[in-house]
Amino acid sequence: MKENMVNAWNKRPLIISGPCSAETEEQVLATAQRLAATGKVDMLRAGIWKPRTKPGLFEGIGVKGLPWLMQAKKLTGLPTTVEVATAKHVEDALQFDVDVLWIGARTTVNPFSVQEVADALRGVDIPVLVKNPVHPDLDLWTGAIERLQKVGVKDIGMIHRGFSSYGNTEYRNAPMWHLPIEMKRRFPGMLLICDPSHICGNRHMLQAVMQQSIDLDFDGLIVESHIDPDNAWSDAKQQVTPEKLNEILDALVWRSGTSNTQEFITALATLREQINHIDDELLTLIGQRMKLADQIGEYKRNNNITILQTNRWNEILDRASAKGERLGLGKEFIGRYLDAIHLESIRHQNKIMNEE
Ligand code: PEP
Ligand code: MN
Repeated sequence: MKENMVNAWNKRPLIISGPCSAETEEQVLATAQRLAATGKVDMLRAGIWKPRTKPGLFEGIGVKGLPWLMQAKKLTGLPTTVEVATAKHVEDALQFDVDVLWIGARTTVNPFSVQEVADALRGVDIPVLVKNPVHPDLDLWTGAIERLQKVGVKDIGMIHRGFSSYGNTEYRNAPMWHLPIEMKRRFPGMLLICDPSHICGNRHMLQAVMQQSIDLDFDGLIVESHIDPDNAWSDAKQQVTPEKLNEILDALVWRSGTSNTQEFITALATLREQINHIDDELLTLIGQRMKLADQIGEYKRNNNITILQTNRWNEILDRASAKGERLGLGKEFIGRYLDAIHLESIRHQNKIMNEE
């Protein structure tokens, strides 16, 4: 990557901010200057080409906005990043000296597009951030990263922007934190940052989501900011002013991945040892439970009774929800846990009924 980028790319936490879309030269320059004034932002983002779900919305200012970003960089020293979805976007962005490219969620889902972008990057030494695909498919996310690696892109980072689901939920895109955690396992050491703006879809949840990503050891944030959020041409509800961003960043508690103090290390090792024991016991008990289910399966087979007994299943759910609540376990967790156990019991009994 270019020399001016090395420090910014390696900064932790890496903080990227800027408008959802570049709208006017004044807006881009003012946002950049007010962000730079916080002293907390490492890179300026702005959408130049906007992938809108429906036609007729603002689809981005286009190439015309790229000189504004160059000017913003000149004024503030902030490196710039834009979203690219086609070979032409890559060519234009490179021509105007954009420092980092990002691939958007609607592009990561499409291997043809990702390959087109990757091919345009063959032999180009520029960092690329890859957003997760819109739906929870880790192989598509992984595949996009692999396509970039295959053409020789050396500096790749991941952006977690949540996953869409049908209907209204609390989030615009549900975070499903276990998915970025799994990506961290797949790509150890690869930069992973959180995009709270597109997860939340509103301003009031931003801080909580940012804090959660910090607690999960993310490497940084990409947050949308605007000088006049309510009148933004895209994603108005989720943008904050640079000053508000500064306030939120101040309120966050930054944690580190490890501690070297002996007390911490010993305490953690002891607690983890206990967790290992309990996990072993849980598995042993679940194994015993399945043996009982096997025996019931044999009775059902011998008496030609269906596997699923809805009344009994409801009884199990009610008992466990009540007990789980007393133990401080979430209702949703109890439901998922019992579902998994129940499915495994059914698999066992199916085998007994049909394979023997
Ligand atoms: C964006 O960053 O403005 C954007 C379009 O995000 P996403 O690809 O995550 O929807
Ligand atoms: Mn946006």
